[in-house]
Amino acid sequence: MEEVKSCPVCASPKQKLFLSCKDFTVSQKVFEIKSCEGCGFKFTSPRPQAQDLGNYYKSEDYVSHSDTKKGAVNRLYHWVRSYTLIKKLQLVLRYSKRGKILDFGCGTGAFLEICKRDKWEVFGIEPDPDARKLAKEKSGVEAFESKEEFHKQLPQQKFDAITLWHVLEHVPDLEAWFEFIKDHISANGKIIIAVPNCSSFDAKKFGEFWAAYDVPRHLSHFTPKDIETLFKKHGYSLIKTLPMVFDSFYVSMLSNKYKHGSTRLFASFWTGFVSNLKANKTGLTFSSQIYILQRA
Ligand SMILES: [Zn+2]
Repeated sequence: MEEVKSCPVCASPKQKLFLSCKDFTVSQKVFEIKSCEGCGFKFTSPRPQAQDLGNYYKSEDYVSHSDTKKGAVNRLYHWVRSYTLIKKLQLVLRYSKRGKILDFGCGTGAFLEICKRDKWEVFGIEPDPDARKLAKEKSGVEAFESKEEFHKQLPQQKFDAITLWHVLEHVPDLEAWFEFIKDHISANGKIIIAVPNCSSFDAKKFGEFWAAYDVPRHLSHFTPKDIETLFKKHGYSLIKTLPMVFDSFYVSMLSNKYKHGSTRLFASFWTGFVSNLKANKTGLTFSSQIYILQRA
């Protein structure tokens, strides 16, 4: 286990315990989330060493769904997935010119496959070997194992868009990640990041049971303010924040499952609905949000 000595956002060495959370999906162990006394940023500490983190992804929940299209639930799942993938592409096209795209944490390559069909030149980074294999077989996407490997092979490669769909919260070393981005984003390039928001209504309602704390896989627990401060420190400005309205329902179902042992469909739907409603009223505090950033 490794302790985070200073805050990744403001470098303050002062921190206090914010929550003790259980890993409900893989290890059933309890992990601590600390809160920085300087800026309030929350992070999982102590955390498994970077090389051991892979052990905490070994669960059915983290394996991509089977590609069989039999059965109504599977058909619905595929329909929702195609819909959200197309929405993501449309969003990228709204902010970036069509060109080269890097999907950081590309999984089985489903998003890059859509981009490829839309005539983008696609690149991916994915640490999981099984996911990389599927990306190649199903989508024809050759993904790199790590940012280090990518940088070694293509040190000059620049991107018009770099996307991280629910990935930044998993990144162990944010400083090194920013170094990589600096080398590979083009002058006008856009960084598009989707992350959970621990200042949302559903986060506060579920507390330690909030599914998007997802310790120890989630190492950083961002609020909109944290994203803005962190990127500003590294020379980027936030150009747009967008809501992800489906996440509050999904996260509420999972959180109820952790808290009560069942997804409580109606209660979850209600919490998701209230979360979105409150987020709309109070500015951008949705369960998960998308941030569009570029060089300042
Ligand atoms: Zn701080």
